Amino acid sequence: MNYDVIVIGAGMSGLAAGIRLAMFNKKVVILEKHSISGGLNSYYQRKNSDAGGIRQFDVGLHALTNFIKKGEKAKPFSKLLKQLRLSYDDFKLCPQTYSKIVFPNIELKFSNDFELLLNEVHEKFPGDMDQFNKLVDVVRTFNELDLNLGYESSRARISAMIKNPLLVEMLLCPLLIYGSAWEEDMDFAQFVIMFKSLYFEGFSRPEGGVRTIVNLLLEKAKVAGCEIRFRAGVSEIMVNDSGKVVGVKLGEEELMAPIILSSAGYPETVKMTPRFPTQILNPKIGPMTFMESIFIFDKKIPSQINDSTITFYNDSSKYSYQAAKNFFDTSSAVVCLPDNYEITKTSGEGVARVTFMSNFDQWRSLAKDEYNEKKEIVAEESLKLIKKLSPGFDGKVLFKDVFSPTTIERYTWHHKGTVYGSTDKTRDGKTPVAGLYIIGTDQGFLGIIGSILSGISMANLHGLMNGGEA
Ligand SMILES: Cc1cc2nc3c(=O)[nH]c(=O)nc-3n(C[C@H](O)[C@H](O)[C@H](O)COP(=O)(O)OP(=O)(O)OC[C@H]3O[C@@H](n4cnc5c(N)ncnc54)[C@H](O)[C@@H]3O)c2cc1C
Repeated sequence: MNYDVIVIGAGMSGLAAGIRLAMFNKKVVILEKHSISGGLNSYYQRKNSDAGGIRQFDVGLHALTNFIKKGEKAKPFSKLLKQLRLSYDDFKLCPQTYSKIVFPNIELKFSNDFELLLNEVHEKFPGDMDQFNKLVDVVRTFNELDLNLGYESSRARISAMIKNPLLVEMLLCPLLIYGSAWEEDMDFAQFVIMFKSLYFEGFSRPEGGVRTIVNLLLEKAKVAGCEIRFRAGVSEIMVNDSGKVVGVKLGEEELMAPIILSSAGYPETVKMTPRFPTQILNPKIGPMTFMESIFIFDKKIPSQINDSTITFYNDSSKYSYQAAKNFFDTSSAVVCLPDNYEITKTSGEGVARVTFMSNFDQWRSLAKDEYNEKKEIVAEESLKLIKKLSPGFDGKVLFKDVFSPTTIERYTWHHKGTVYGSTDKTRDGKTPVAGLYIIGTDQGFLGIIGSILSGISMANLHGLMNGGEA
């Protein structure tokens, strides 16, 4: 079978790229190894007959970043709506109350109104306000979408501007854990993307969770005429003698196309391409992976006890962002209380999610019994933290689930369960193989909104010769 473009992966970037290409009458197929779409941002269900049946869980949705109000223009989210011809109301966005960065004896709140963070920094770091304002000016004027930018250390650049190390650590904490492939640091362009998307724009959550987004994209892709095949894992990307991509193999089956957009990850894509010139480039597997515990309680955490949507918790004045030394690291965490979004439809039950940095190799080394025992310990530590941040909450756990880096690898095929991908990004999507392009996380735009925008921009740049229409 011949196509104009083959897209590997039906995660956020693959679906977005497929929609965009099909809109312009390209013959496009999306090949997905899993039986469902969503990739790193998918969903599943858990049963507990004692607690009354089945509940739906999201894999990765704490927060949809880049919040805009209806009608706002010239923002990443509005660009996404325009390019995919979706309406704002389709996303059923429920904005956050506020979120906070909690370090010992100090916290900084931020919300979908940047004024809150400005006031917090002013109140808690009065002597550093001018330096913070200078950083804000730099962020506002920086062109983070320039595809030719190279890596620049954010820590070095920010520390040159802000002299108070505690403020630097606190500002970096949410930005690193929500989007850095690099341990202890991040690329400055990525810092700017994250600063704008978290602090300037803020968080919301679609009513219905990640399914709302996945179903919306799937439906749009089908209507646009995009073919989507599930349980269709690409085993090989074929390259001809001239070093040009010609198609893919799915086991015995061959599909041909002159352009392939892969969202499987850069190292993963290289591995699928036997003729990839690894002497020119051999991207590294990213070190950052996480584990998450999700609880459903018999009641919500009352807002008088904890009304923060997301808490970025750290137990010392220095934020250590690295693969955990020992299975998982409780010195910092992200605690998400989805009930603290302005949800319109709601049940009496409460939900909490806790994310810790983790270590793939250690989880990988465990036998099944040890693995399950260890997951119980993670659940206990997560519950302790929820109770520490929500003192007095006595909700009973009805459902719980814990997933580890090995779970992430098993269902997304990202080597070592890496969530933010390789530290070798290809910002223009190009690889040394003509016609083979990287989209999504390893192109460098990540998170839900980032990867959708990556799919759109790479499809425009490499799949639609004239860039498509705006
Ligand atoms: C626990 C967790 C929490 C997160 N929380 C948030 C959050 O709150 N907000 C946010 O914005 N982002 C969050 N993220 C990040 C976000 O999910 C990702 O950045 C984004 O979904 C990446 O999309 P992608 O299209 O680049 O890649 P992926 O989602 O990884 O898509 C790649 C797809 O390719 C498929 N694939 C792989 N190999 C093959 C093959 N050989 N053949 C065919 N198909 C293949 C995979 O199955 C997958 O579906 C979270 C991620 C995790 C894991």
